Amino acid sequence: RRSVYNPTGFESFNMGGKIPLGLKRKGLRIVVTGGAGFVGSHLVDRLIARGDSVIVVDNFFTGNKDNVMHHFGNPRFELIRHDVVEPLLLEVDQIYHLACPASPVHYKYNPVKTIISFFIALLIFIIIIIVMMMITNVVGTLNMLGLAKRVGARFLLTSTSEVYGDPLQHPQVETYWGNVNPIGVRSCYDEGKRTAETLTMDYHRGAGVEVRIARIFNTYGPRMCIDDGRVVSNFVAQALRKEPLTVYGDGKQTRSFQYVSDLVEGLMRLMEGEHVGPFNLGNPGEFTMLELAQVVQETIDPNAKIEFKPNTEDDPHKRKPDITKAKELLGWKPKVPLRKGLPMMVSDFRQRIFGDQKNPAT
Ligand code: NAD
Ligand code: UDP
Ligand code: UDP
Repeated sequence: RRSVYNPTGFESFNMGGKIPLGLKRKGLRIVVTGGAGFVGSHLVDRLIARGDSVIVVDNFFTGNKDNVMHHFGNPRFELIRHDVVEPLLLEVDQIYHLACPASPVHYKYNPVKTIISFFIALLIFIIIIIVMMMITNVVGTLNMLGLAKRVGARFLLTSTSEVYGDPLQHPQVETYWGNVNPIGVRSCYDEGKRTAETLTMDYHRGAGVEVRIARIFNTYGPRMCIDDGRVVSNFVAQALRKEPLTVYGDGKQTRSFQYVSDLVEGLMRLMEGEHVGPFNLGNPGEFTMLELAQVVQETIDPNAKIEFKPNTEDDPHKRKPDITKAKELLGWKPKVPLRKGLPMMVSDFRQRIFGDQKNPAT
């Protein structure tokens, strides 16, 4: 069956996209792969609140049922334990494809699972066991594109600023092709997402699938994995636990941190809008890791110590999104600066780390 994509979500979609007064918006059927994860679960909250029906597809590799439990019992919500590497048959209007072992620690201990590049894939085909593991980004994305093609759904890929690698252009504009080491420790993630972007554009050009591509910059907020090794979650958890903040290298490398609600707003605007992308979605506020440590000290514990540790290989020296395109074409820009967003994340971490116990850091 090939259903007709109805971008307005209104039953009156054949009325030139205009919604006559008094007509109720028809809820869409939306799949969110990776919907039990950090970003996915916040997206699900917004979609459910908007009146849509949401199917979360997640294998709980890094996600958690707790993130979506508050929707259990809602007839517009479904949760399917499924690995996107396996084919999936559903009838839907939109697919938000977030499933991916995302955090550095997770993708480093299972690197082949996030590998991609067709060339590497060809070699890997020779080694059956690696073929078995090689996946989420290629096969998972391929399956979701196949699903989108079959049912005429619109497909959104959550790609990453990592496609720019260790960028030689600053800030990064979408037209920059990046500087990625194809054989380094981070490559499984970077190249995985680059190949996912390639597949997405091939299905768009070759099969007419409606696609959208977001390049997401470092995002933080409530429900982030506590011990996944990312810098914001590490610093916040360390400060709360009265441990030293671990700064890797000299701490002068930069990142731009976006609060999760800003990202979700950007993803939804991208999905509903007319433009394929890719679009950078990130907060241009740029911080060195030492500056970030200082903001965490200000927010949680001014006496928190800093401990320097060796940096990881191929760590990008700087990263900051140019969001001119998203501003102009999606009417989007982030609203929550780091010093406003961080306290909201800290309350969530405090609750999850200490539960009802008294927090020793206060
Ligand atoms: P996350 O780890 O919290 O969420 C990913 C979800 O995908 C998890 O629930 C996990 O269980 C699920 N998953 C992984 N492999 C799967 C598979 N094979 N089948 C089904 N489900 C699977 O990560 P996140 O931070 O919420 O990231 C969401 C998306 O955004 C990812 O695609 C990630 O690459 C992208 N992204 C995130 C950031 C960030 O800073 N958070 C930055 C750039 C890009
Ligand atoms: N696929 C899926 N659900 C669907 C349709 C396709 O999971 O509803 C998978 C399918 O198993 C295949 C991939 O998507 O592995 C690509 O599908 P496509 O139809 O584009 O390619 P083909 O099956 O013709 O190779
Ligand atoms: N980093 C750090 N201390 C930590 C974890 C990370 O100084 O405890 C640094 C890391 O070396 C990198 C930056 O913080 O330069 C961002 O790392 P993260 O893994 O959060 O994101 P990514 O490198 O994927 O942008």
